[in-house]
Amino acid sequence: IIHMRGVQKRYGHFTALKGVDLDVAAGEVVVLLGPSGSGKSTLIRCINHLEEYDAGDVFVGGVRVERGRNLLKVRQQTGMVFQAFNLFPNLSVLDNVALGPVRVKKLSWDESRAKARTLLTRVGIGAQAEKFPTQLSGGQQQRVGIARALAMEPRILLFDEPTSALDPEMVGEVLDVIKGLAHSGVTLVLVTHEMGFARQVADRIVFMEDGEIREVSTPDVFFSSTRNERARAFLDAVL
Ligand code: ATP
Ligand code: MG
Repeated sequence: IIHMRGVQKRYGHFTALKGVDLDVAAGEVVVLLGPSGSGKSTLIRCINHLEEYDAGDVFVGGVRVERGRNLLKVRQQTGMVFQAFNLFPNLSVLDNVALGPVRVKKLSWDESRAKARTLLTRVGIGAQAEKFPTQLSGGQQQRVGIARALAMEPRILLFDEPTSALDPEMVGEVLDVIKGLAHSGVTLVLVTHEMGFARQVADRIVFMEDGEIREVSTPDVFFSSTRNERARAFLDAVL
C-alpha cells in the first residue's frame, strides 16, 4: 500500500534521505528505529507529503504522492498522529474529532459527532467528550489525536513518536490504544523509542541511520540476533 523507491530529501546542502526503498503491505505494522537525526521523521513525512521529496517515487494506494490533485487522494487515505498532539485548543474534544469528516467528507455535524463519540469511547475517553484539550492529561490528549485520525477512516496511520511528549505513567495507555489498532486492518507506520512495544507490535522493524535504511527484519531477528553492526550499537545504547 506504500511504495517508496530511491527517495531523496535534501535540506539545503544536507541530505536527510539518501535514496530510500521501502514497501509496506496493507494491514502491516512497520516500526522505524534509528538514532536521532537518522531521517525517521523525514521518511514518514514524505509518505503524506508533509515534506516534499527531491528525487525518487512515493506511491500510496497506487497514487503518486506529489503536489496537486493527487495530494487530496493521498491525504484521504492517510492519518497522522504527532508527538505534540496538535489538537485545536478552541474546539471541544468531541469537535476536534468530528471536524475532519465535516470539512472533508461533508458529513453533517450530527452524524460526525455521533461517530466521534463512538471513537472516543473506543480509545477510552468517552467521558471527556465535552471538555477542551487543555483540560485533559497528555495521555488523554494523545488519545484524542488518535481518535481524530481514525475519524477520517484512513487506510494508513502514521505515528511520529506518539508517546515522547508524555509523562511516563501515561505512555502505557496510549501504547495500548495503538496495540488495539495493530492488525485490525489499518496499516501502521510508527516511529517510536519504546523498544518493548516495537518488539511486541511490529511485523517488521526498519532500522535507519544517516538517511539510509540499514536493515529490515522481523522484531525477533532484529532485537535478538541482528548482524548489522550499527543496529547492534544502537540497541546497546538504548536497551
Ligand atoms: P529524531 O529521532 O531526533 O526525531 P529523526 O530520525 O526523526 O530524528 P529527522 O527529523 O528526519 O530525524 O531529521 C533528519 C536530518 O535532517 C537531521 O540531521 C535534521 O537535522 C535534518 N533536518 C530535519 N528537518 C530539517 C529542516 N526543516 N531543515 C534542515 N534540516 C532538517
Ligand atoms: Mg523525528
